[in-house]
Amino acid sequence: MTFIKLEGLTKKFGGLTAVDEVDFEIEKGKITAIIGPNGAGKSTFFNLISGFHRPTSGSITFEGKDITKTPPHIVARLGIARTFQTTHLFDTSSVIDNIIVGYRLRTKSKLFDAILRTKREKREEKEAFERAIEVLDFVGLANLADSPVSTISQESKKRVAIALALATGPKVIFLDEPAAGINPGETEGLAELMKKIVDSGITVCTIEHKMQMIMGLADNIMVLNHGAKIAQGTPEEIQNNPTVIEAYLGG
Ligand code: ADP
Ligand code: MG
Repeated sequence: MTFIKLEGLTKKFGGLTAVDEVDFEIEKGKITAIIGPNGAGKSTFFNLISGFHRPTSGSITFEGKDITKTPPHIVARLGIARTFQTTHLFDTSSVIDNIIVGYRLRTKSKLFDAILRTKREKREEKEAFERAIEVLDFVGLANLADSPVSTISQESKKRVAIALALATGPKVIFLDEPAAGINPGETEGLAELMKKIVDSGITVCTIEHKMQMIMGLADNIMVLNHGAKIAQGTPEEIQNNPTVIEAYLGG
């Protein structure tokens, strides 16, 4: 069974086609990278898969199940997690509280549970705390758990966003430019983290501009240009693809 299958995936915003008839498959257990110039439709592509946008046409299948019209919280529950290009964190709260709140927002079944502090509520709180400790340790931030987010580096914030996505125990994680705005040494660290995620059994799909990083990391690459898929293949195939060189890699 195909893990994630996209057929004719299209998203129009008025007269603009942001994602244009994309056919693609994301393989389980691999690192897939989506590359392409600014405005190519990469974030929109993620928004479609994660249910934040509804496709204009085409379909999305996850583990054989049609999720084309599934809302984001249900998509998340099925095991598809994501980060955003801009990290939304509560600056004045600690790193661990950000994870706990995020986790609870994603997993909570009934709003009332949170209001009436039921027994179940307390048990869930404890679970959220333990889970937060676990994912912070996994992403290498255990020592910053109690630091206010406003005091940590950009790179650490990126790791917090990844920890948030991992907290729900997803099958696949979509990362929107995780290495944007961080230095080369930190980029290498993030690449290591992505390998660690995939080694732990979670499929990774990432959007990235840093070619050197992606070429050494991804198993499979898709290139978007003006919303359309112009190429797909291994890093080697992509680097030698004349269409890609012309459209994107700049000769
Ligand atoms: P990328 O992530 O590759 O830089 P985006 O997916 O963010 O590209 O954007 C693709 C195109 O769709 C751009 O022209 C952008 O302006 C447009 N776009 C993205 N989101 C919206 C939206 N919510 N409403 C209208 N246009 C949008
Ligand atoms: Mg984007």
